[in-house]
Amino acid sequence: MTDYAIPIWTPPAAPVSGGGAFPVRHIYCVGRNYAAHAREMGTDPDREPPFFFTKAADSIVPGGGPVTYPPRTESLHHEVEMVVAIGGEAADIGPDDARAAVFGYAVGIDLTRRDLQQIAKDTRRPWDVGKSFAGAAPIGEIHPVAAVGHPRAGAIEFAVNGETRQRGDLAEMIWSVEEIIAELSTLYTLLPGDLIFTGTPSGVGPLQPGDRAVGRIEGVGEIAIEITAR
Ligand code: MN
Repeated sequence: MTDYAIPIWTPPAAPVSGGGAFPVRHIYCVGRNYAAHAREMGTDPDREPPFFFTKAADSIVPGGGPVTYPPRTESLHHEVEMVVAIGGEAADIGPDDARAAVFGYAVGIDLTRRDLQQIAKDTRRPWDVGKSFAGAAPIGEIHPVAAVGHPRAGAIEFAVNGETRQRGDLAEMIWSVEEIIAELSTLYTLLPGDLIFTGTPSGVGPLQPGDRAVGRIEGVGEIAIEITAR
C-alpha cells in the first residue's frame, strides 16, 4: 500500500451496461474524422488528415445528466461521437489486431469551449483550455463487445430540445476505428481504461443553459444531458 502524501481520489469511471463501472485512465480524441465536419470547420479533408488531442480523465460526466455551463466561455459547442473503450494493451499494432483491444462502445459528447479553441488556433497555442475542462466529456453507458459487436455503420445523431442538429453515419469516418487504434498505438501504449472519442459528424453548434440534449448512435445507445447555469 503506497503511503500517499495527500488523500487519494476515486478514479473517474463510466457506467457499463449490465452493471459495473469502467475506470478511466486517459481520454484520446480524434479531430476532423468526418469530411462534412472538417469542411464546416473550414478545412479540406482531402488535404488535412485527422489528428489527435486529449482530455483529462476527470472531465467525464458519467452517464450524462446535468452539465454545468463551464467558465470563461460564451460558446459551448456539442460534438456527438462514438467512444471506444479500451480493454486490452495495444502498442504499435496494426489495424487487423485492433479489435482485440476493444472492451466496448458508448455514445459520448466532446463538449468544446469553441471561442477558446478558436483563440488557440489563431495564436498557434495548444487546444487544452478549449477541449479539456470539468464536464467536457459526457459519456453514456459502455456496451461491451459481447453485447453490441463492433458497430461500423449506423446513424449518429444529436438533438437539442427535440430538434435534430447533427446527423451522420458511422460509415462516414475518414479513419476507421481500427485505423484510429493502430495509429494511436504507434504514439502511445494503449491500456485498459483508455477512451477514444472518434470524431463528430457535421452540425456542431452552441448549447445554452436550460438546453436538454440527446445523442444517439444506432446500435450503441444514447446519452441525455441538460445544461445548467454556471
Ligand atoms: Mn470532437
